[in-house]
Amino acid sequence: MHAEITDDQLLRYARHIILDEVGEEGQLKLLNSKVLVVGAGGLGSPILLYLAAAGVGTLGIVDFDTVDISNLQRQILHATNRVGAPKVDSAIEAIRAVNSEITICPHKGKLTAENAMELVRDYDLVTDGCDNFTTRYLINDVCHLAGVPLVAGALQRFEGQLSTFKSHKDGPCYRCLFPNPPPPATTASCETAGIFGSIAGVIGTVQATEVLKELLGLGESLSGSLLLYDGLNTTFRKIRVPPDPACPLCGSQPTITSVEVVPQS
Ligand code: ZN
Repeated sequence: MHAEITDDQLLRYARHIILDEVGEEGQLKLLNSKVLVVGAGGLGSPILLYLAAAGVGTLGIVDFDTVDISNLQRQILHATNRVGAPKVDSAIEAIRAVNSEITICPHKGKLTAENAMELVRDYDLVTDGCDNFTTRYLINDVCHLAGVPLVAGALQRFEGQLSTFKSHKDGPCYRCLFPNPPPPATTASCETAGIFGSIAGVIGTVQATEVLKELLGLGESLSGSLLLYDGLNTTFRKIRVPPDPACPLCGSQPTITSVEVVPQS
């Protein structure tokens, strides 16, 4: 627990502290915040680097994968000399180089219905940069049931999307927006559909900004809105997304009441 800003922190976070909206009080809030980042890949890279640089005091990282040479086109946490290393270890090395004073909690392995609740409930906020629908629904359900805000991003080809979910309080959850996973033909992975690398930087950086805003209570929350970015046409669209009263998780008669019932593929 950081009770007050040290002289070193005054220098490191000077450009934050000078902002009226942040100040010493806001910086202390960040230093005392715990954020879980799911996926140390394309989205997780800018998210983790910016949250570490911003002084978010505790960062949890969940990833089961190892660094592959084909990741380096967009996953800027990782480096050529760390190909073959666990992504969590590679991420820690990159983060430590930026800010060695924060606490990093590595979670090497998959997020599953069995371990998700225990993991998530330790954090103030979860941010999802995973690459598959099974995990996306699981994180949504766990965050709703645990009462933890979720900032979730997704990428495909030249496009990205982003939203914040606080359905335990108000606003929709991910299932309200996407009641069913899209058919497999439309959900090609990065591997088969391709991804224009810098799109991950655009969405991941906005995602980090939304995480910091939620932690500080700044500006307008993205809860209740879906942000859509089209890289080819250079457009951002923000559409309102209301809660679905028939949602099986956050609707008036929920049928999903524990993590165990989340289907695993
Ligand atoms: Zn819902």
